[in-house]
Amino acid sequence: MSGDEANPFESLQEQIDDAAAYLDTDDDVVERLKNPERVLELNLSVDMDDGSLERFRAFRSQFNGDRGPYKGGIRYHPGVSRDEVKALSGWMVYKCAVVDIPYGGGKGGIVIDPSEYSAAELERVTRSFAEELRPLIGEDRDIPAPDVNTGQREMNWIKDTYETLEHTTEPGVVTGKSLEAGGSEGRVEATGRSVMLTAREAFDYLGTDVADASVAVQGYGNAGHVAADLIDDLGANVVAVSDSSGAVYAEDGLDTRAVKAHKNETGSVSGYPDADEEFSNEDLLTLDVDLLVPAALENAIDEDLARDVRADVIVEAANGPLTPDADDVLTEADVHVFPDILANAGGVTVSYFEWVQNRQRFYWSEQKVNEELERHIVNAFDDLTECYESLDVPNFRTAAYVVAIQRVVNAFMDNGNWP
Ligand code: GLU
Repeated sequence: MSGDEANPFESLQEQIDDAAAYLDTDDDVVERLKNPERVLELNLSVDMDDGSLERFRAFRSQFNGDRGPYKGGIRYHPGVSRDEVKALSGWMVYKCAVVDIPYGGGKGGIVIDPSEYSAAELERVTRSFAEELRPLIGEDRDIPAPDVNTGQREMNWIKDTYETLEHTTEPGVVTGKSLEAGGSEGRVEATGRSVMLTAREAFDYLGTDVADASVAVQGYGNAGHVAADLIDDLGANVVAVSDSSGAVYAEDGLDTRAVKAHKNETGSVSGYPDADEEFSNEDLLTLDVDLLVPAALENAIDEDLARDVRADVIVEAANGPLTPDADDVLTEADVHVFPDILANAGGVTVSYFEWVQNRQRFYWSEQKVNEELERHIVNAFDDLTECYESLDVPNFRTAAYVVAIQRVVNAFMDNGNWP
């Protein structure tokens, strides 16, 4: 996070304040919902392959547990900071509440560029983190999951470390595992799938059809490329996609799966042979398309860039891709933004299904996972639009926060406060 960038934790607090204005809730109770319950900060000391010892800063923020155990991913990125992890843990609280799954919110991160380390080193870093997290996590306490630059491999290591140290079998301590280690069908695609479902519902709500839309996707990691594939499958025209290397564009539409294959082979989308043109990420974000899907990191669109956005609809696949100032500009310009806490909630929703399956030791088909996911996202979309209309809030993000905060407040009030 560079100095002049929006602080994501302040963005979260501003989003909560914007929504709380529409709720009849005591200021003290709202204030409680703006700060994490606890934050663990670590310095992990890990042996490197060459015999040296390296230290890594790591965090786990447990933001709120009123609705259930803390839930949220662990990211590996050089830009991870305490405030970023705090913000991401808060977004998880409201995400779980929007889709009405019985969790609070948490998030973790390690300050590391995983591309610079061997698999053996990453395993030692992950197991060291898991060992430190062990007293705080558990299927009824806090349940980590994948996030940026982590996936099944890291989740399997965390599960194995926890189970070994605890002398138990508890696959539900972490979600996003491989199928063999107790993962769920459909989990890898779940985030992209909810982005697709949100886009489909959004265009329908606005009186058009996503099948007729031109689409640009910023970020081609797990969320971005699956969203691109599934939106393309609906018949839409995905004209541009990007990753940190830049953007590729084809007026008649890209073959999204072929672009992914090219990225797998070469490490980036750049150089994809069937593109008409290549340009920068910023050019992609300001393309004149019907649907823009930011699927990279926070703060992709700030106030200045927002003034140049020409898309009609934005569906947020990343967490926090718009700064609050960008949000204001886009609301003013009548660009409809469907927020991260709904659109990318598929990941944590299928994590919930994985956890349910782990606890029951009874596993679902991919079809059942996808049907249940669709039901959760469509219900959440309907709750959000009902709130948008009935309270006359300025945008869909505020509507989502109103719905979510009310659910968390209700749980807090019904539980009572101890001591
Ligand atoms: N990291 C994902 C998110 O930001 C998934 C979290 C989870 O499955 O717990 O929503």
